[in-house]
Amino acid sequence: MLSATQKEETRRIAAELAHIARSGHVLAGTISERRTHCGRPGCRCMADPPQPHGPYFQWTRKVRAKTVGRWLNGAQRDDYAPWIENHRRLRELLARLEEIGEAVLEADPRFER
Ligand SMILES: [Zn+2]
Repeated sequence: MLSATQKEETRRIAAELAHIARSGHVLAGTISERRTHCGRPGCRCMADPPQPHGPYFQWTRKVRAKTVGRWLNGAQRDDYAPWIENHRRLRELLARLEEIGEAVLEADPRFER
């Protein structure tokens, strides 16, 4: 069974999980920043030093081993970046719960030593 320390930690994890879930602000994938060079002679992106176009923001995620993406503007990037951070945090909290579960199982006195 869970120790008092583990129970306390799972309570804190549950509170944080609930807080994120209630917000509904959860998004899988990543947002990356892209700057491009169009290659047109005389364009600022070909100057010395080059001034590339952008930044452009791309949200991508894997769907059945295929990467799908959407271009975002700066305001969308600012809005959705915390959603992706929340998703990362959910996975971290779940991994911690899995570790606690494993520790409890390993400490089960019913295992024959
Ligand atoms: Zn250019």
